[in-house]
Amino acid sequence: MMELLRTAGLSRSFGSLQAVLDVDFAVGAGELRSIIGPNGAGKSTFFRLIAGELPPSSGRIRFKGRDITGLPQHAVSRLGIVKSYQITSVFPHLTVFENIRVAAQSRATAYNFWQKASALGAVRDRAERTLVAVGLAAKASHRAAHLSHGEKRNLEIGIALATEPELLLLDEPTAGMSPEETEATMRLISEIAGGRTVIVVEHNMKLVMKISQRITVLHQGQILAEGTPADIRANHRVQQVYLGGA
Ligand code: ADP
Ligand code: MG
Repeated sequence: MMELLRTAGLSRSFGSLQAVLDVDFAVGAGELRSIIGPNGAGKSTFFRLIAGELPPSSGRIRFKGRDITGLPQHAVSRLGIVKSYQITSVFPHLTVFENIRVAAQSRATAYNFWQKASALGAVRDRAERTLVAVGLAAKASHRAAHLSHGEKRNLEIGIALATEPELLLLDEPTAGMSPEETEATMRLISEIAGGRTVIVVEHNMKLVMKISQRITVLHQGQILAEGTPADIRANHRVQQVYLGGA
């Protein structure tokens, strides 16, 4: 498997708190990786470092062999690493389709601005495909404001997906969802992962075990364990600090 992303000694502190500490992490192209760990383990901070939202205190980040450490978020996203944002990325007064089309367009503008008419058709096609992929085709003409919580979260995934990222980062995509919505969204994520690389932070252990190829366990900013779902399930240290306590 071709390696897509690698961090080496990646660390970030906030004052005296080490939120992420000396993390060596690699993900292969096409992989669906889950990151789990208790609250405060450093999962979101780790994502923010990768996405260029936050500079590391030390350590390096390589994407497709290129050192991207310290690049700002817009540069990182242009290279193909996109994090799905919470509700803020949805324009409530636009329709579901328009929200996705705007995202698809932003990608086209960055890459194909000279193509004009043919690019517009491609944008429309991509928006329509994305709409179907995230299960919102029937709601295409509804205003985003009128979606249920679960549908809004899926729309966020669609917005991220419409930009055709090479690496999609999903931080607790099922937060606040009902068990049914959670299961449907996790199924959606594993379908998306068919064509691209996805790293997902998720709390629902049953679903994590079901969809992940490999799982990385963070604890107090450090990698506690990494392996297949079976490895993680059998790991005593993981059971002690995480699964056992739940
Ligand atoms: P997780 O996503 O695993 O719950 P976070 O990455 O959000 O963990 O947080 C890891 C630690 O870093 C926590 O102790 C949190 O309080 C702290 N932290 C995160 N962001 C900041 C910040 N911007 N300023 C200060 N402390 C922060
Ligand atoms: Mg978090």
